[in-house]
Amino acid sequence: MRNKLVAGNWKMFGSRAMTRSLVAGLAAEFADGAPCEIAVCPPFPYLAEACRGAEETPVTVGAQDVSDQDEGAFTGQVSGAMLAEIGCRYAIVGHSERRSLNGEGDALVAAKFIAAQRHGLTPILCVGESLEEREAERTEEVVGRQVRAVLAAAGIEAFGRAVIAYEPIWAIGTGRTASPEQAQAVHAFIRGLLRAENANIADLIKVLYGGSVKSANAAEIFAMPDVDGGLVGGASLEVEGFASICRA
Ligand code: PEP
Repeated sequence: MRNKLVAGNWKMFGSRAMTRSLVAGLAAEFADGAPCEIAVCPPFPYLAEACRGAEETPVTVGAQDVSDQDEGAFTGQVSGAMLAEIGCRYAIVGHSERRSLNGEGDALVAAKFIAAQRHGLTPILCVGESLEEREAERTEEVVGRQVRAVLAAAGIEAFGRAVIAYEPIWAIGTGRTASPEQAQAVHAFIRGLLRAENANIADLIKVLYGGSVKSANAAEIFAMPDVDGGLVGGASLEVEGFASICRA
C-alpha cells in the first residue's frame, strides 16, 4: 500500500508573509496527524522560511527546480546541496513550464533528477503531453519518451527514491482536468513501463496527478488505483482549499 502525497507547487506566487501563514495554517490543520504526506514548494527565496515553519510538523518542503550542477560559475542556479542544507526534501524536475518556457529537454531533466538524488533530495519528475499530442493519440509516446529518458540516464533503481507526476499540459492552470479514467490510464501506463524493469519499484513508486486539481475533483481522481496523490498548483495557495485536497 502506497501512502498518498499531496504537493503544492506555488509557481511564482506568494510572499514571505504568505509562506509563513500557509505553512503555519497547514501545520495547525493537521496538528493531530495528516491524512497523507503534505509538501509545499514555494519560490526559492521563501524556502528557508518554509523549512523553518515546517520543522516538527507533518509538512515537508520542496523546491520547484534544481541545478544539474553541484557548484561553480552557474549564475542564477541553485544546487541540490544548498536545498538539502536548508531542509528541503523534494525538488520538482521537468515541470512543463520549465520544459516549454526555459527550453529544458529530456537530457537536462534527467541530469537534474540525478543531481537531486546525489544530494539526498527526492525528485518529483513531471511528465505530460500537450493537447495537440493527446488529440493525435501520442500521449503514451510522449510520456513514455520522457520517462525512458530518465530511466536510461539514472537506471531503474533510482526510481526507488523518486516520485513521478503526470501533468497533462492541457490541464495545467486551465480549469480543465483529466477525467479520473484518463489519469488512471496514463498512470497505469507509467507504472507498466517501470514494471518491465523492476516490479517492486513499480509497485512502490508514487505517481501523482497534476492539472487543475481542486477540492471538488480531488477525491474522485485520487480514488483511482494508480493515482497516489496530486501535484497542485493554483489550489495550493490557500490553506483551506489545499487542506481539503489533502483530506481527499
Ligand atoms: C502545476 O503547476 O503543476 C499545476 C498542476 O497547476 P494547476 O493545479 O494550477 O493546474
